[in-house]
Amino acid sequence: MKLARYIHKNEESYGILKEQTVVSLTKVASVLHATLPTTIEEFVGSGQIAEVTVNSLMTIADEDMIDKASFPLSQVQLLAPIKFPPKIICLGWNYIDHVAERKVPLPEEPVFFMKPRTTIVGPGDLIMKRPFVTELDYEGELAVVIGKKAKDVPESEAMNCIFGYTVFNDVSARDFQFKDKQWIRGKGFDTFAPTGPCITTRSQLQDISNLSIHTWINGELRQNGTTHDMLFNINKIIYHLSRVMTLEPCDIIATGTPSGVGMAMKPQTWLKNGDVVRIEIEGIGTLENTVAER
Ligand code: MG
Repeated sequence: MKLARYIHKNEESYGILKEQTVVSLTKVASVLHATLPTTIEEFVGSGQIAEVTVNSLMTIADEDMIDKASFPLSQVQLLAPIKFPPKIICLGWNYIDHVAERKVPLPEEPVFFMKPRTTIVGPGDLIMKRPFVTELDYEGELAVVIGKKAKDVPESEAMNCIFGYTVFNDVSARDFQFKDKQWIRGKGFDTFAPTGPCITTRSQLQDISNLSIHTWINGELRQNGTTHDMLFNINKIIYHLSRVMTLEPCDIIATGTPSGVGMAMKPQTWLKNGDVVRIEIEGIGTLENTVAER
C-alpha cells in the first residue's frame, strides 16, 4: 500500500494514496469499528501490525464505503510522510555513474552523512534558496523508511527492518558543501530534504533492485538512472550503518543519487528562483517542489 499524510479541511490525517484520491483510514476504521494508530509515525512503528489490520479492513470494506471515505487529491494537501524523523541519514557516492561523473575514486565502504530534521518538507513545498547560496543543486534519491529498532543487523536480515520507501531530494548547496570538509552546512539548510508523496510499503514494493529514478528540472530530463547502479545495496547499507548507530522507527535513509546533477553539467547549472524540480521513482510516485529565493 501507499501511505500518505495529508491535510483535508485543516485536519491532518493519513490514508492510502490511490491514482486520484486518498482513502481516509480514520474514516474506514471508524465505520468498521476498528482501531488504528492515530499517527503515521505510530503506524510505521507498529511493525507490520497496522498494515495487516488495514489490509483486512480494505478487504471487508465495500466499494461504496471506500468511496465515502475518499477525497479527491485536488481537495487535499499532501505532506511529508514523516514529519520529524529521528534521524535522516544519507549516502554520498553510492551510484557508480555519479562517482564517475565527478571523477572521484569509488569508496570502499559506504560514505554516510546526516541532515537535520528541519530540512524536511513535503510535496509542493518550497525549497528555500538563501540569497548567499550560489550553487544550489538537486539529487533525486530512493529513501528507506525504517520500521523497527535495530542494531548490528546482518545483511541477510536487513530487509526486516524496512517499513517502506519514499522519494527524497537531497538538495545541496555545493558552494558550502565543498568549502567545508564535511557536509553539514551544504546539505543542512532548512527545506533541503523534500520527501513524499507517500511511503510505499515493503510488502508492496518487494523488489527494489532495479527501480527507475528520473529527475526533471522545468520539464527537462536531467537524471535518468536506476537503483541497479547503486554501489552498496540497501542490505549492505543497513549492515554498515547499524554497526555504528541504533536504527529507530521512522528513521530515513537516503540511498544516494545517480548521475545527472547540475554540478556535473557542462557548464555547471544551478537551481534558481522559480525552478521546478520533479523526481519520479518507479513504484512510489512523483515529488515536485519549486525553488524560491528569499
Ligand atoms: Mg545525495
